[in-house]
Amino acid sequence: MKILVINAGSSSLKYQLIDMQKENVIAKGQCERIGIKGSLLTHKNNGKEFIFKKDMPNHVIAIQMVLEALTSKECGVVKNMEEISAVGHRVVHGAEDYNSSVLITPDVIKCCKENIELAPLHNPPNIMGIEACKKAMPNTPMVGVFDTAFHSTMPEVAYLYGIPYEDYKQLRIRRYGFHGTSHMFVTGEAIRYLDKPADQLKIITCHLGNGSSITAVKNGKCVDTSMGFTPLEGLPMGTRCGNIDAAVVETLCNKKDFTINETLNYLNKKCGMLGLSGVSSDFRDLTMGNAFDNPRNKLAVDIFAYSIKNYIGRYAAVMNGCDCIVFTAGVGENTPYVRYNACVDMEYLGVKIDKDKNENCPRGEIADISAKDSKVKILVIPTNEELVIARETKRIVNI
Ligand code: ADP
Repeated sequence: MKILVINAGSSSLKYQLIDMQKENVIAKGQCERIGIKGSLLTHKNNGKEFIFKKDMPNHVIAIQMVLEALTSKECGVVKNMEEISAVGHRVVHGAEDYNSSVLITPDVIKCCKENIELAPLHNPPNIMGIEACKKAMPNTPMVGVFDTAFHSTMPEVAYLYGIPYEDYKQLRIRRYGFHGTSHMFVTGEAIRYLDKPADQLKIITCHLGNGSSITAVKNGKCVDTSMGFTPLEGLPMGTRCGNIDAAVVETLCNKKDFTINETLNYLNKKCGMLGLSGVSSDFRDLTMGNAFDNPRNKLAVDIFAYSIKNYIGRYAAVMNGCDCIVFTAGVGENTPYVRYNACVDMEYLGVKIDKDKNENCPRGEIADISAKDSKVKILVIPTNEELVIARETKRIVNI
């Protein structure tokens, strides 16, 4: 059975076609600059790359091009669209309506549209991707997999803010959490690797990429997470500020003459590693070669690692201990300096990182970087959000 996974952004659309028998990727690619001049589709299969430059004024045309590429003589991998059993869509915000993946029906699309106010940047392109696929493949079942769903098990004490309860009820202001598919995937991998029942494990999963979030997982279920009402809360990230006193908004508006939109744009796009370093949001630029010759690069990365350590301590307290810390995503999988500084000097918690194993950690596979006498396992686990979406799609359509 082959499942097409779609992750639609405002001007991009990433896809993977996965054969579920062995869970291998048959083809993948992405459409870029949808609705902008110079749009192109990059399609990869069998180690070959094909680039198609053609105008893609909207997501419907983009999906048509993807399906053409998947079925074409030149670079196709299936004879016709009937070979694609189902489509799994990433949907960023499920609000309190979805605590699990769901078969997409007109009611589900309506509900996702109602949730646009909670995710104005993300849900609209996700919905465009779904509607475009529905047009091109009207008879193929589609499943929505929500970034927020894994976090739906958080207790009230973790997801409520200290604002009037009525405003939570009326305006839906609460912590939702994001990156759920990644936290769910690495949690499953860690449980399998540790070979213990989920209900005996307390795991802290650190998804560190351009956007970063940390989750506390007890008995296989999320009990707390660092991102909040939006992905702005938590760690300082590539360009997002992370936790900040809300009153800063007043100073920014008054002193920089920002509107609310300009303030949010600043907090989302000009802060974090980019703002602190003044150089780049990309951890490669900040850590590789002689990047630390610039002390502000080092300062930015040290603040990031310090913030991770903060959350590890906080979540160990919340769970009454921790058995395993997982590092994943672009930075988590590739930046030993961050992992080391997030874990060093935490012997009181039973956390002891092995410097050598951390430095020489193999890429693309699960690695244990904890010292022999560390009570807490420290694992590096490559994430695979597309595979979670494909597995969830298979589970829901039950084929
Ligand atoms: P996104 O949130 O966009 O999915 P990723 O998980 O791909 O992000 O992470 C992007 C971040 O990971 C960037 O800051 C990038 O510098 C970092 N990264 C990716 N690969 C490497 C690498 N080989 N070495 C160091 N950093 C890396």
